[in-house]
Amino acid sequence: MTVEKRALSPATRLAQALRFVDAQTGAIIPAIHPAATYARDENHALRGGLIYRRDGNQTTAQAEAILADLEGAAEAMLFSTGISAATAVIEQLPADAHVVVPDVMYYGVLGQFRSYAEKRRLRVSHYAAGNLDEMRARMRAGDTALLWVETPNNPNWDVTDIEAAAEIAHAAGARLVTDCTATPPCATRALDLGADISFHSATKYLNGHSDITAGVLSVREKGPFWEEIAEIRNHQGTVLNTWDAWLLIRGMRTLILRYERATENALQLAAHLERHPGVEGVLYPGLPSHPGHAIAQRQTGGMFGGMMSIIVKGSEATAIDVVRACEVFYPATSLGGVESLIEHRKTVSGEGFPVHPRLLRISVGIEDVGDLIDDLDCALARAGAG
Ligand SMILES: *Cc1c(COP(=O)(O)O)cnc(C)c1O
Repeated sequence: MTVEKRALSPATRLAQALRFVDAQTGAIIPAIHPAATYARDENHALRGGLIYRRDGNQTTAQAEAILADLEGAAEAMLFSTGISAATAVIEQLPADAHVVVPDVMYYGVLGQFRSYAEKRRLRVSHYAAGNLDEMRARMRAGDTALLWVETPNNPNWDVTDIEAAAEIAHAAGARLVTDCTATPPCATRALDLGADISFHSATKYLNGHSDITAGVLSVREKGPFWEEIAEIRNHQGTVLNTWDAWLLIRGMRTLILRYERATENALQLAAHLERHPGVEGVLYPGLPSHPGHAIAQRQTGGMFGGMMSIIVKGSEATAIDVVRACEVFYPATSLGGVESLIEHRKTVSGEGFPVHPRLLRISVGIEDVGDLIDDLDCALARAGAG
């Protein structure tokens, strides 16, 4: 009797790290390969293709294989930080290239675009995040090289339709790069929706434990530009190190569990805060009242994630006092970890980046949601919000 086996689901492939088995030892966990250099064999040939640490390493390659599988990518490349991955995309562009980027987005990447523009190495046009008409109007057919979409974007969590953005980019002959760090590829498969490169800060949900920094680029179709990005990573020495790649592999095994729990917690917390007298507004695509809810529902399969912001009633000082009064949420930046974080975003991004002065960015973790709700209720009361 022949039995046809079903194809394994992403949850199974991820939990088993692509059913890893070490060919030499049978170990089901990959080894950490710290070597900086590799000996040639008796014919003076390379044994595994690697010459030197900057080329990459076996542990990082294993993490890249898992990420490429999760994204449905031709290939994935891991960098030492999210910013270094984003910078490699920028560095690959020809001098004076025209790029179209959101007006509100993760401030570090926006800062990179700005500094390249100030040095006259790029021409940058901005569109209001999520606004497809403005996006279309900024594109210059035959001139624009790259369209950058961050969805949902930091720290307002506006939603952009990736399929529509891909059409707009490709109609102008540009490449679409998406940053869906807040909704990892178990929720949003950006390449399937038409992105040419999917960027993620793997520091966040992909690793999930706030103990490494990493960035990843996944490509739909390889081409010369992809080889150039690999060369930039090599020459800048920004390949993800072995130890962090090993932690990332460990973290990704529980990605789906962690992300599902964060989503469940965030949906409850957002619904609670939306009715709270000390809160003027809740920015969370999982709320039916959010203007991007329907698109987010489609683009995440209802897995909206744990990122939201609230606008506190009162003054800027009231908002900061709420952060200071929290005892369960850590008053710290970053996102996507198992522990919940809260931050006054204006304090973190500094002057020059558009952010509401009373906005608190919240990364909801996997703790007991009752504890999270109680912590914010008490903090809002102690700060005198409302
Ligand atoms: C954190 C983050 C980045 C930058 O990644 P790092 O790993 O901190 O360098 C880029 N985009 C978004 C949306 C982020 O949250």
